Amino acid sequence: MMICEVKEMAFGLADMLFPPTCLTCGAALPGRGEDPFCAECLSVIQYTVPPLCTACGLPFTTIQGADHLCEECIRSRPPFSVARSLGKYEATLLDAVHLFKYHGKISAGEALGRMMARAPYDSLATGEYSLVIPVPLHPKRLRERGFNQSLVLSRQVSNRFNIPLDFLTLRRTVHTEAQVKLSGRKRRTNVRGAFEVTDKDRIKGHRIVLIDDVYTTGSTVTECSKVLMRNGAHEVAVLTLARA
Ligand SMILES: [Zn+2]
Ligand SMILES: [Zn+2]
Repeated sequence: MMICEVKEMAFGLADMLFPPTCLTCGAALPGRGEDPFCAECLSVIQYTVPPLCTACGLPFTTIQGADHLCEECIRSRPPFSVARSLGKYEATLLDAVHLFKYHGKISAGEALGRMMARAPYDSLATGEYSLVIPVPLHPKRLRERGFNQSLVLSRQVSNRFNIPLDFLTLRRTVHTEAQVKLSGRKRRTNVRGAFEVTDKDRIKGHRIVLIDDVYTTGSTVTECSKVLMRNGAHEVAVLTLARA
């Protein structure tokens, strides 16, 4: 018997014993498709659609028109070239991120990472990038959570586009308060000086895709981008799963 036949039988048996269910609502799924969500949960995901800010990726409320800079990016250009997100941080994406981040469901994170890597991002032509770097966690937070959610997402992006992954060079050296509890201004001061590059040579001249799970005010990815650019990166593009 061929190995693949054995595998298929094993999967068949697993499906009988543990039929695949939707990650977020628990409904039975017709099979083990690429995404672990039912059609209904998939249908309520609000994917990011243009027009968007050409820099930070903020979606504009008008339905028509070309992409352009938003007010905030006109006033102060971010240190990253472009930021893009898969969709809005609500409904299915919010529930799935919670399962992943706060309940340790790594398989949810891997599925989200695949969806994130598969989506098209106009100006983020991923083929041109040479390094994928996740937003790092401080060692203390890493011990609490047991994993870095951004690294789980980064692996999928790195695999899909065949871009090397570097999760050692950018480090978080200051243990900061969780951003979730803070307002915009406090978020910026909270992460200031919290990151460092351990070895400039590893990022020098690279065009980097910086990965994080949620983009809220952008203060974390802004701070990381500043540090990467200051240390010789050629460009930093930001890709996040969801935008709050
Ligand atoms: Zn569902
Ligand atoms: Zn903007």
